[in-house]
Amino acid sequence: MGSLKLVTVKGIPIRMHITFPLILVWAAIQFGSGQNPFWRGAVFGIVVVVLLFVCVVLHELAHSLVAIQFGSRVNEIVLLPLGGVAQMERVPERPYQELLMSLAGPVASGLIGVGLSFLTLFLFPLRIWTAFLQAISSGGTLSWSYLLPYLAITNLFLAGFNLLPAFPMDGGRVLRAILATVMPYGRATALAVRIGQVLAWGLGLLGLFSRDVFLILVALFVYAGATQEGRMVQLKTALAGLRVRQAYSHSPQAVHPEDPLSHVVDLMLEGFQSDFPVCEGDRLVGMLTRTGVLRGLKEHGPQVPVHQIMQRNFLIVGPDDDLFEIQQRMSESGAEAIPVVDAGTFLGLLTRQDLEEAFRLVTVYPSLLSRRNTL
Ligand SMILES: [Zn+2]
Repeated sequence: MGSLKLVTVKGIPIRMHITFPLILVWAAIQFGSGQNPFWRGAVFGIVVVVLLFVCVVLHELAHSLVAIQFGSRVNEIVLLPLGGVAQMERVPERPYQELLMSLAGPVASGLIGVGLSFLTLFLFPLRIWTAFLQAISSGGTLSWSYLLPYLAITNLFLAGFNLLPAFPMDGGRVLRAILATVMPYGRATALAVRIGQVLAWGLGLLGLFSRDVFLILVALFVYAGATQEGRMVQLKTALAGLRVRQAYSHSPQAVHPEDPLSHVVDLMLEGFQSDFPVCEGDRLVGMLTRTGVLRGLKEHGPQVPVHQIMQRNFLIVGPDDDLFEIQQRMSESGAEAIPVVDAGTFLGLLTRQDLEEAFRLVTVYPSLLSRRNTL
């Protein structure tokens, strides 16, 4: 959470992260200082940044609409101080789909930039460009007529910057998509991640030498983004083809709906289990999480029967579900454990530890890979 909804476009909620106003404060100070009076520059800065973020939303919408065409779902677009992020479920994976989706954003920014440049040429004399550049670089008096050229140039810059071949920029995905046409997806990602990290080091060193804090921040952001994308794909490649039945715990402690909560607390203290299935015979009727237990203790005391406080709505998985997909759903929902149920019969729990174990085993003993299809 930590964000406010602004509008909904084509079913996609557009939200503003709570840290977003920081960029407005920065803009007010940046544009206000050196202007007389200060507030005129400050207002110019705030207006220009708000308009710039309208363009950023158009950039993210362009990505999102192409992704939706290829069957992805876009949960939301979030505006952060350093830019926008479209949260997608399942990024399209065929190389040409990823290529088109990644190019859509920079193309949108580029078109806006070119369009606004033409509008500037049409509305103002040619010398506005030099006057504007002078005012920006040397702190000359800002005029509202500089709004258009400013937005034109920043949109063109956005298009160019996002095409840098490094994750998490669009160019990183473009690079991976191109590489993935001649090598496997995992190798293409690993190579694109390396290139992104090298580029981040370059940007960071440049920032250090030129004492540009902003550039150093961007370098850190690029480095972290590249590394994260690499891990995600590593996980996906490792878990590819594995099923829930190969990873879940078969004999977790289960409790009965009539058991008192104190019994669950005893079980928690005895072992490492934190989530408890609630069963009648081999039928699963509820789930009790660690937070549920703590809340139940606080609100009802230790004698309350389990059925009064258990969760009745929860995710379940089948033994043949895809492990990577379930891992994604677990990390999205924040669940620590999911019950495994087959034709109404409770089989066991799939926990985060199980997933980590599976990942470690498969990475350490790649020979397990060959057993995947026979298991
Ligand atoms: Zn983009």
